[in-house]
Amino acid sequence: MEMIPFEKACNIVMNSAFTTGTEIISFTDSLNRVLAGAVISDMDMPPFNKSSVDGFAIRKSDIGNDLEIIETIPAGFHPQKSIGTNQCSRIMTGAPVPEGADCVLMVEDTEMLPSGKIKFKYIFTKENIALRAEDVKKGDVVLEPGRIIRPQDIAVMASVGHTLVMVGKKPRIGVISSGSELVEPGEKPGRSQIRNSNSFQQMAQIERAGASGKYYGIARDDEEITFSIVEKAISENDLVLISGGVSMGDFDFVPSVLERARVRILFSRVAIQPGKPTTFGVHNNAIIFGLPGNPVSSFIVFEFLVRPLICKMMGHQWKPLEILLPMKEKFSRKFAERMAFIPVIITEDGMVLPAEFHGSAHISALSHSDGIVTLPYGIKTIEKGEIVSVRQI
Ligand code: AMP
Ligand code: MG
Repeated sequence: MEMIPFEKACNIVMNSAFTTGTEIISFTDSLNRVLAGAVISDMDMPPFNKSSVDGFAIRKSDIGNDLEIIETIPAGFHPQKSIGTNQCSRIMTGAPVPEGADCVLMVEDTEMLPSGKIKFKYIFTKENIALRAEDVKKGDVVLEPGRIIRPQDIAVMASVGHTLVMVGKKPRIGVISSGSELVEPGEKPGRSQIRNSNSFQQMAQIERAGASGKYYGIARDDEEITFSIVEKAISENDLVLISGGVSMGDFDFVPSVLERARVRILFSRVAIQPGKPTTFGVHNNAIIFGLPGNPVSSFIVFEFLVRPLICKMMGHQWKPLEILLPMKEKFSRKFAERMAFIPVIITEDGMVLPAEFHGSAHISALSHSDGIVTLPYGIKTIEKGEIVSVRQI
């Protein structure tokens, strides 16, 4: 199968997305979920003209006069008296401003006179009143659907009484590793063995994307074993990620196993570096990614192809935050027929340095990196000082 450009791979992946429906959960459980219905305010905010300071509610026209205190209004209480000429009420932050008052003097800007009256010490003050509905009107949409719910959104839901929230269902995602050389992280690898790092990296990447994964273990390089695990994972999930076994080696069974499992392969080579052997296919029941075995490649392909798909399946159009910063040094590469993803460090002086990177098996290179810079096809160098876009990882 031909090698396709990254943009084409993206389109194929995103066009294969299906949504996994919605569910209603408590707003207290909704952090990092995708909001599926608009949140509408059931009240004005503030619901009344509210004092924003501790002080004295007065008529602004009386500002220089000696003022008689007629009432104290704590937060949570309704004023009983309206303010007349040369009168004021002691008022606390958050309490309703009484009738007749159009200004609140801050307590620290006033002095208490021997007569028990108060007097403003200066000549000018702000009103210090938050007007009814100045933030939100009853019936306003306060949160639009499609967003990822953040702590500040949970505050908004709480304040408008939106205690049950509709969110996108998390797709069920199965994670498989393939390779006879792999052992589990809790085991000591024998000669010629290594620990499975991909599956746990992927489980964490899935979690970070707002979904949750199910781990199916290591499939040895045996066609029958791989087939039975893949078939089970496909029948139980909306999305299946299998890493390793997608290259051109004698024991790379994943492509043939996927075909046998009636997966329609839509691409199996992408013009990216790292990540070329990325395989993608669809089945009646699930979408399947064959990710490269190398952990760095697997990580990057997940971030650039799998994560946007997971978000779309939950109803969110993911736009990663990218920061524009200058290169600290010149970067160059020999070949430019593939798009390159370069792990980089952001230095203390706010510049970008390519991370030390020995190749796609160099797992710790990513731990030392702050982000990825994308270098398009045909471009061999980035000059020192050139502004690049860094996607945080
Ligand atoms: P493969 O695609 O199966 O040829 O694997 C490419 C490289 O990635 C080999 O060096 C594998 O040992 C390594 N690899 C494959 N799967 C994993 C995994 N789950 N965790 C860590 N390394 C892996
Ligand atoms: Mg392998």
